[in-house]
Amino acid sequence: MDCSKFVNFGKKIVGIGLNYKSLLLERNLPMPKTPIVFLKPTSSYITSGKDIEIPKGFKVNEEVELGVVIGHKCKKVAVEKAFDYVAGYCIALDLTETVQLVDVRKNGHPWTFVKGFDTACPVSHFVPMQMVPDPHNVQLWCKVNGKTVQDGNTSEMIFNIPEIISHVSRCMTLEPGDLIITGSPTGVSLIEPGSLVEAGSKSLGVEMQFKVKSDE
Ligand code: MG
Repeated sequence: MDCSKFVNFGKKIVGIGLNYKSLLLERNLPMPKTPIVFLKPTSSYITSGKDIEIPKGFKVNEEVELGVVIGHKCKKVAVEKAFDYVAGYCIALDLTETVQLVDVRKNGHPWTFVKGFDTACPVSHFVPMQMVPDPHNVQLWCKVNGKTVQDGNTSEMIFNIPEIISHVSRCMTLEPGDLIITGSPTGVSLIEPGSLVEAGSKSLGVEMQFKVKSDE
């Protein structure tokens, strides 16, 4: 199994923000009424064993997330049909720059640089959907320098996978190889040059690791 189903051919990475109850509670934020959608460029992909490169002046948090890989082109998908269009899953790290993010949020500006810098989407290998009987009961973990910082379950999602696919596809065609990253549980942590970041999921049978360095 490899990543070629999405890393090499996917045209977009769709991110869902603030989709875990534990994260909202931790930050004292209100529950979103509809999924919060953003895009990451496919140039931000890296696969296990590669280096995360932090741009100069960036302070970056990791967010471990379940990735949903689209298998068939679709638009305006009904919730009850959504799984027909899923090829499988992966684990992703939605790397996010945290200093600019404060200003960006306050001013309503785009999240492009905070979410889209090179190496901002580390991913595991692809896991076919048949191997994941319940994607809404997947345990996800992340360790930074050997210490567990995130250990959450996809059962905590506010908007589940069919609801997300239905919502996004209302106005955006989803195509084979597109990846939807479905939000992060609590515990997101700072990663810095010199850090070792590991993440994975027993439920999916995946593990990945990345060294962090500066892009200078
Ligand atoms: Mg995220």
